[in-house]
Amino acid sequence: MISSKEIKNIATDLGAENCGIVSAERFRDAPEGFHPQDIYRRCKSVIVFLKSMPAEIILCDHPVPYSNVANILYSELDRIGIKLSGILESKGVGAIPIPADTPYEFWDEQRSHGMGILSLRHAGYLAGLGILGRNTLLMNKYLGSRVYIGAVLTDAALESDLISNDFLCPRKCTLCLDSCPVKALNGQTVIQRLCREHSIIKTGRGFEIYNCHRCRQSCPHLKGHK
Ligand code: SF4
Ligand code: SF4
Repeated sequence: MISSKEIKNIATDLGAENCGIVSAERFRDAPEGFHPQDIYRRCKSVIVFLKSMPAEIILCDHPVPYSNVANILYSELDRIGIKLSGILESKGVGAIPIPADTPYEFWDEQRSHGMGILSLRHAGYLAGLGILGRNTLLMNKYLGSRVYIGAVLTDAALESDLISNDFLCPRKCTLCLDSCPVKALNGQTVIQRLCREHSIIKTGRGFEIYNCHRCRQSCPHLKGHK
């Protein structure tokens, strides 16, 4: 049977910058319908992997470079997930890649509230890849809050990583909350309607642009630790 270490090496070879693995059992608090086994009944483990955006692109004043790179990173994570799933299948291991961004199956029109089929930021946290900051983003110790997340569900029972507990948001830091122009962050969650209305715009030609990411820009942990 393939080991966690072998899978992490394959993910790294495919371009992942970090990879963690967690048993499906650790998702016991996932909402009904959003547990890994709601997607793939045979799922025993979840492989989570990261790509990061260069900090200078996040700090850029113009929204187009950030939007373009974010879309490419989502595609890149999907590519890694599909490739990794194929390699695992060729070794007799069942694997299902999870979309790195949309499509949302769950959508509450009134609240403009969407939920992916699996919460990737929670999966990253459970797989030991970082903490969930007050900006609601996954923050990796070394890659900071620049990370984008992909995942593959597998029927292999793999060794889990420990949950990360070696750093936290500074106790009194509220920079991300204060930076949000529409007060969409409350330290626990993001009010998606407020955030979406402000942060996603359509150009005259119909391209979607991420017009705000101040909660990422303002974070002193943006670049992570050396
Ligand atoms: S992306 Fe912008 S609008 Fe949305 S929570 Fe962050 S700062 Fe607020
Ligand atoms: S800005 Fe401060 S509180 Fe917000 S996520 Fe970053 S470290 Fe945490």
